[in-house]
Amino acid sequence: METTLRGVGVSHGVAIGEVRHMGTAVLEPPAKQIPTDEAPREQSRARQAVEAVAADLIARGNLAGGEAQAVLEAQAMMAQDPELMADVERRIAVGSTAERAVYDAFAAYRALLAGAGEYLAGRVADLDDVRNRIVARLLGVPMPGVPDSDEPYVLIARDLAPADTALLDPSLVLGFVTEEGGPTSHSAILARAMGVPAVVALPGASELAEGSVVAVDGSTGEVFVDPSAEKRAALEAAAAERKAALAAAVGPGATSDGHKVPLLANVGGPGDVPAAVEAGAEGVGLFRTEFLFLDDSKKAPSEQKQVEAYRKVLEAFPQGRVVVRVLDAGADKPLEFLTPADEPNPALGVRGLRTLLDHPEVLRTQLQALAKAAAGLPVYLEVMAPMVADRTDAKAFADACREAGLQAKFGAMVEIPSAALRARSILQEVEFLSLGTNDLAQYTFAADRQVGAVSRLQDPWQPALLDLVALAAESAKAEGKSCGVCGEAASDPLLACVLTGLGVTSLSMGAAAIPYVRATLAKYTLAQCERAAAAARATDSAEDARRAAQAVLSGE
Ligand code: PEP
Ligand code: MG
Repeated sequence: METTLRGVGVSHGVAIGEVRHMGTAVLEPPAKQIPTDEAPREQSRARQAVEAVAADLIARGNLAGGEAQAVLEAQAMMAQDPELMADVERRIAVGSTAERAVYDAFAAYRALLAGAGEYLAGRVADLDDVRNRIVARLLGVPMPGVPDSDEPYVLIARDLAPADTALLDPSLVLGFVTEEGGPTSHSAILARAMGVPAVVALPGASELAEGSVVAVDGSTGEVFVDPSAEKRAALEAAAAERKAALAAAVGPGATSDGHKVPLLANVGGPGDVPAAVEAGAEGVGLFRTEFLFLDDSKKAPSEQKQVEAYRKVLEAFPQGRVVVRVLDAGADKPLEFLTPADEPNPALGVRGLRTLLDHPEVLRTQLQALAKAAAGLPVYLEVMAPMVADRTDAKAFADACREAGLQAKFGAMVEIPSAALRARSILQEVEFLSLGTNDLAQYTFAADRQVGAVSRLQDPWQPALLDLVALAAESAKAEGKSCGVCGEAASDPLLACVLTGLGVTSLSMGAAAIPYVRATLAKYTLAQCERAAAAARATDSAEDARRAAQAVLSGE
């Protein structure tokens, strides 16, 4: 029977498909004792699980071919290692459950490998993966990591970290549903970047049955479990209608009376560029460079590797603006070699620009790589720092840019309320502002952006957040400088009109949102946007702000 669940819609569109769970890290099975007469049954359970996992690895290797096949076959051999199996059976014979025996036997083998030289130590991660697969099978829980599926699916997760997302095959993910997260969580950002529908903060998402069919409406936040044929047809028809309306809107971003608001794309690397170009982005408003740093947990990418990645993005927008954000490590984007492991509250700790000022060599390499990447290109390069708190921060960043010989505009992100409150003093040091409304909401409301339970406070329609946006935009105007928005607020079409009315000078968002924002902005005059902004700010809640803006724009 069809049931309806409600979460927060964060990426438009409709996805219909089978549920696949993102397996969580395998928990340690409890060390409970079993009676000795149960040992033969447990031993046979263990053998069957090992054989099934080995067979699955081999089958996936056959499908993948090439180098991947060799790795998967080596893993299958690890699973079937006779000594390991003998150790598992011995442990069961003295009272372990099958899952606990596998867990402990692999731990002993792991310790041997880890101490046996670099090559074997490098196999530890593969061994852990094999152990996790066998234990997951014995516990009857989803396999850890990205689902093993060759068919497209709707991905269900508690939340997605940037590192998980690197492993996803975008051609297989129809949409996302997460139990945690809010409109600014990485799950939401990734869904928009991939152009797939997503619903976050959906209570009970983790309990959706593997293989059941869901229809995800990323605009309304509804998830229909076992949707009827009529429901599917209605959702698909509505999605097709929306798509056709969007295709009709083309060209640069502007209000109906011609007030220009450049629509820029948020990208994580060269891979996101084709979608941005296709959506008609007028440039890049936020290049999140931290994705380049995820490949190696021990060190920063070489200058050369960075030059290549930056150049690919810069070349895609020959006459356009490209705003590159220097590395934003820490808090929700930790990097092992830079982020302190023992901070009691990482979001309030050493992150963003603070990390870079503590590691000037990382900042220098990145700025030099940017200077080399832009050399000889006609692009308008702009470079900005995340998590600027005050004028001292802004000056330190601008000095570092000058020392690196960077020919670009230097800017500051406004993500901390202090930066919005003292925007004019920050603008004595830098040439533009870019509002990171995701973190600005987190710090204004003391509401962790990764926690679903406080997503109400993460809502970018909150009037207090709109007040800070207005303050920053007015300050920039008074200084004759620009102030864009690159947080997720810019991707909400109605809010984009309100931001325009507040005086924001450009909007940057995941490529998939650009057509929606362009089409909506083109329906209203600047004066209407200003009235909608004033009406939204005059309310006391996010819901009322949205309703008030909607009422003004629809002429009620
Ligand atoms: C923001 O905080 O709004 C922002 C754009 O940065 P990120 O989401 O990468 O923290
Ligand atoms: Mg941020």
